[in-house]
Amino acid sequence: MLGLMQDWPLTVDKILDHAKTWHGHREVVTRTVEGPIVRSTYAEIHDRAKRVSNALKGWGVKLGDRVATLAWNTHRHLECWYGIMGIGAVCHTLNPRLHPDQLAWIINHAGDKVIFVDLTFVPMLEGIMSQCKGVERVIVLTDDWNMPQTRLPRADCYERVVREQSGECAWGGFDENTACGLCYTSGTTGNPKGVLYSHRSNFLHMLIGLQADVLATSVRDTILPVVPMFHANAWGVTFGAPAVGAKLVLPGPKLDGASIYELLESEKVTYSAAVPTVWQMLLAHLQAGRLKLSTLKRVTIGGSACPESIIRTFWNDYGVDVVHAWGMTETSPLGTTGTLTPEVAALPFEQQLPTRLKQGRAPVGVELKLCDDAGNRLPHDGKTQGRLMIRGLAIAKAYFRGDGGNILDSEGFFDTGDVATIDPNGIMQITDRAKDVIKSGGEWISSIDVENIAMGHPKVELAAVIGIHHPKWDERPLLIIKTRPGETLTKDEMLDFLKGKIAKWWTPDDVVFVDDIPLGATGKIDKKVLREQFKDYRWPAPEPAET
Ligand code: ADP
Repeated sequence: MLGLMQDWPLTVDKILDHAKTWHGHREVVTRTVEGPIVRSTYAEIHDRAKRVSNALKGWGVKLGDRVATLAWNTHRHLECWYGIMGIGAVCHTLNPRLHPDQLAWIINHAGDKVIFVDLTFVPMLEGIMSQCKGVERVIVLTDDWNMPQTRLPRADCYERVVREQSGECAWGGFDENTACGLCYTSGTTGNPKGVLYSHRSNFLHMLIGLQADVLATSVRDTILPVVPMFHANAWGVTFGAPAVGAKLVLPGPKLDGASIYELLESEKVTYSAAVPTVWQMLLAHLQAGRLKLSTLKRVTIGGSACPESIIRTFWNDYGVDVVHAWGMTETSPLGTTGTLTPEVAALPFEQQLPTRLKQGRAPVGVELKLCDDAGNRLPHDGKTQGRLMIRGLAIAKAYFRGDGGNILDSEGFFDTGDVATIDPNGIMQITDRAKDVIKSGGEWISSIDVENIAMGHPKVELAAVIGIHHPKWDERPLLIIKTRPGETLTKDEMLDFLKGKIAKWWTPDDVVFVDDIPLGATGKIDKKVLREQFKDYRWPAPEPAET
């Protein structure tokens, strides 16, 4: 027997419809690529997104066609998102931090017909356009005044396009399983792979994000997503904010500490989300200028492991609560969040820290398990490390165009490529990426743990640990440090700092200092490049002492 409830397809156009109807006056504030701050509202965003839809229809874009964006977080980008998705076209967010050749490859693989591009990226796109024969036209996200001379195909100015269209356009009306968004993984191994979100998965993922134990954003929040809309749906924030009618502040191209601080204060931001490196820049700016944060209450930090120093400084010096989160492109991306259970919340802050450093618990709709290499389940005892496997309502079941073949195990779980522990309370901790874990004498050393502690040293800006071949132990950890500007640090000082904080046999056998540590396209340390840089590294003689 079927239930007798209404059929209400979960399509994301309904989110912006809702925002327009019930929160139409609420502001969307953008630091534009051109420079000035622009103030808009959900009603205006809705009207202009419909104009984008009409333009797309006029250019022959149909259900399932891919339309790309190459853009920062701005009101125009938001309008494109909803304008594309609203008519059942697929919004393909391109990551501008990728190498241009890789971008060209992705554009072709996706089969993008139209590209909306920010001024910043026009030269880059011009450089690769001859390789992208399928792109029919490019719209530059700017006004007539700032429209550049360009040789991009059928280039047009966004504001002119929007001005000439009508704001009346029917959205939705298609199956909720219709493809909605496309985002490529950054391809740290092999070619990038496309994750194809559906309307239903994005809608349900948005609801997951709104739970009090996940992002917990509400109409009383002013939200600044530093997480880019071009990577993993900005963690769902640009769906969740209009859904609840929260004021949205979009930082455009300026993500440095001073610019983010200015927006946090001038717009009275209460909630923000970003990767650790962004917060490190902000905290450095606050400390250098002895500044205060007057409205910020909560931040979600994820994308890579959040160092303890960030969590502690935010709380002790600024009264900001950090929630650590884990996820990936394939998981929409929210997989776990570290909001506290009552038992941990009752402890003094310092005693909460070991739990706060973990990546947290799965919300309803997300299932986790740990497996060994043969696919056998491993215990959730908080000690046993295993491959982290995930299944749920917004988790990829295959890659676009079937790349990578079958990506699920016999129980329908996706292998995240991460190594983790899960404790009896369901709290998950990422110990490493499977390919980064250091195998020493048959045991695993977590590079993340060592990096986290090293990053807590006041003179350290970035720390990375990689495994280097060792004749006796197979691999041993090498600690690579970039110090803060103007600081000097010695190997012995660093190793002294680690003493007592990690197991003795986890202690790096050597510490090297570098001018820079390479970051990948999603702002994370690029260990593939680091391993290449250190491929000729040899342990100092004599051989490292036995541990
Ligand atoms: P890419 O693989 O392209 O870097 P993703 O954003 O999909 O892009 O990366 C997801 C990966 O990032 C996860 O599999 C995990 O290794 C890492 N990651 C994400 N959040 C965290 C976190 N809080 N702690 C540790 N690692 C994390």
